[in-house]
Amino acid sequence: MTAVFQDPMFQDEDKAREALEAVRWPDGAICPHCGSSDPDKLAKMGGTKKSHRPGLYYCNDCKGQFTVTVGTVFERSKVPLTKWWMAAHMMNSGKNGVSAHEIHRALGVTYKTAWFMMHRLREAMIDSKPAPMGENGGNVQADETYHLNTSKRAKGYKKGHSHKASIVALVDENTGTVRTFHVQKGVTADKVRDILFTNVIRKATLVTDESALYTYTGKAYGDHQTMNHTGREYVNKLGFTTNNVENFFGVFKRGMRGTYTFCGEQHLQRYLTEFQFRYNNRSGLGVTDGERTAKALKGIEGKRLTYRPAH
Ligand SMILES: [Zn+2]
Repeated sequence: MTAVFQDPMFQDEDKAREALEAVRWPDGAICPHCGSSDPDKLAKMGGTKKSHRPGLYYCNDCKGQFTVTVGTVFERSKVPLTKWWMAAHMMNSGKNGVSAHEIHRALGVTYKTAWFMMHRLREAMIDSKPAPMGENGGNVQADETYHLNTSKRAKGYKKGHSHKASIVALVDENTGTVRTFHVQKGVTADKVRDILFTNVIRKATLVTDESALYTYTGKAYGDHQTMNHTGREYVNKLGFTTNNVENFFGVFKRGMRGTYTFCGEQHLQRYLTEFQFRYNNRSGLGVTDGERTAKALKGIEGKRLTYRPAH
């Protein structure tokens, strides 16, 4: 991947900060201490005196000071904002993502820092307010797949699905969005029911293969359409299909093989979140690379911040 960093926000720290302000505060600055957004009370201090940090604001409501990075992972990060923009840009260009090694080389940060930045950005990609799927009786495709320990030649291979990392995914056909779940210790009908009941409204039409995992829970839905995959049926007689959810699994598996040499099961949900974010903000839904990058950085606010020092 050849990263192109033409935009000034990748080169100039002031421009990078202004770009982050535009993303975090589209309607003007907000004081992170007291929540004031009154433009008459928030004074921009940065640049007026040499002693003031660039981008510094003073809040006349609570007499506090702040910049756009206060309360975000960037605040204690030693990595300049230009490089956060670069990392977010690289992760959000193309379908397959980028490895920590590529970020490390392109940004000139250590591998460890690149790895840390990518995990923080994956956290930012979490959809913290997921909407119910299957509104207005729409179709929701559900399917499961297995990841890791799937090669019989690999060291430590164990037979049986309970030894593989399981993934359940749902696709809402009306919104074109996917939602993914790393299921530990094997998928069961009970675990599938919990996922479906939490995410898909009962009026929806559930579309699955003929797996027994969905049979009982399917009865709770407005309709349950199945297709016989062992009989190589990919679209049933009424035109229902699980092609979209299977396509997502294909993108995920190809991307993981191509980009990430090893992904332990403890990080699987983070990688799923990353692929899910790109899929749900794909160009086919009218989202540009730039918009996707900005949205990823915007998501960094309001996330539980688990700081590690020295990055
Ligand atoms: Zn304030």
